[in-house]
Amino acid sequence: MGEPEDQEREMFRQTLRRLVDREITPNVLEWERAGRIPRDLFSRLGELGFLGVRLSPEYGGAGRDFRYTATMVRELVRCGSIGVPVSILAHAEFATKVIDRSGTPEQKREFLGPAITGERVGALGVTEPGAGSDVAAIATRAARDGGDYVVSGSKTFITNATTCDWVTTAVRTGEPGHGGISILLIPADAPGFVRGRRLEKLGTHASDTGELSFEECRVPARNLLGPEGGGFRLIMEGFAGERLVLAVMCGAQMREMWEKARGYGLERQAFGRPILGFQAWRHRLADALATIEAAEALTERALDLSVRGERCEKEISMAKLFAAEAMVGIAHDCAQIFGGYGYMEEVPITRLYRDSLAFSIGAGTSEIMREIIAREAGLLPRTEGR
Ligand SMILES: Cc1cc2nc3c(=O)[nH]c(=O)nc-3n(C[C@H](O)[C@H](O)[C@H](O)COP(=O)(O)OP(=O)(O)OC[C@H]3O[C@@H](n4cnc5c(N)ncnc54)[C@H](O)[C@@H]3O)c2cc1C
Repeated sequence: MGEPEDQEREMFRQTLRRLVDREITPNVLEWERAGRIPRDLFSRLGELGFLGVRLSPEYGGAGRDFRYTATMVRELVRCGSIGVPVSILAHAEFATKVIDRSGTPEQKREFLGPAITGERVGALGVTEPGAGSDVAAIATRAARDGGDYVVSGSKTFITNATTCDWVTTAVRTGEPGHGGISILLIPADAPGFVRGRRLEKLGTHASDTGELSFEECRVPARNLLGPEGGGFRLIMEGFAGERLVLAVMCGAQMREMWEKARGYGLERQAFGRPILGFQAWRHRLADALATIEAAEALTERALDLSVRGERCEKEISMAKLFAAEAMVGIAHDCAQIFGGYGYMEEVPITRLYRDSLAFSIGAGTSEIMREIIAREAGLLPRTEGR
């Protein structure tokens, strides 16, 4: 038997696995078509304690470390529709962890408590039509007016945008550049909060991704998260967690695709033998397995450093970069072995294939990962001025 923590995590895994098998996987086709997961799923996950895994016990969270989040991600990926974990994690980690870290007790009571039960759903709003990778260039302005902030601007590509109850929003409260950025918790029922289109995407169809705009939207000043002008640092700290989540998700998705390819390759016959009877295919899947294990090892290293509270921006960026880039090739190979079936909507590998393409973009593109690795590894000449 392993350590008590391992046994507890194993029980956590088994409970979630049962939920995924019985209540999620059978519904994913319907949710893919609907372009979102149902609100009931958030309530159900909240009821079972899966929405506050890393959040404070005072507000209903489980106060666990990132290993539990990783276990949760791996189990959710097994449902075969990556939009499902993306939507859940955007709420349960990306929008909320920063409140847990930096919120006042009042903010935690108002936003965290109902988020952990699944009563209210959150989103993280950083990206704008004119600024994505360059977070310091965001233009959504929040001007102080008495006891309120008045917010004007727009956000795009926001996960949970059309269904959320509030948004952890990056706004500009000061001068241009990163020093003028703050975070405001904006309720969806604030006057001037306008939901835009739900965006149709190449993949991750079960996650709702959309636009938001703020038309002189009034938000009480008490909803400012952390110090005014301190938002950029909070966003960057949050990104590390998001990137680690995505690296874990990539590893789990690659495993899922590989297992499906292996199963099909052992069964499907051509020229009187299973497809894996051809050495070309055995070698292709052997290469894929070596790559998957390399990706998992990098992620495990980053995860370990993160859990121990050590500096690991470089390791997280390497894990996400490697896994996201590797996944596209692995997805192609794993779909190719299915022949024509690998191009049919009803076959899960098709969905996983197109879902694999979002990971080199979300939570920081591969190019930005390379920039971080370069900076952390001392590759930036002084003349670059960063
Ligand atoms: C499915 C999905 C869900 C998302 N969910 C959310 C969400 O919930 N909340 C949220 O705030 N955002 C979300 N995003 C947005 C995502 O974070 C951004 O798309 C991403 O950060 C890139 O920004 P951009 O799209 O504006 O691209 P840009 O920043 O305009 O980049 C365009 C291209 O230029 C490259 N580039 C930019 N800067 C450099 C550089 N310095 N060196 C080299 N190349 C560079 C990029 O890598 C990219 O290839 C989501 C995106 C997707 C696809």
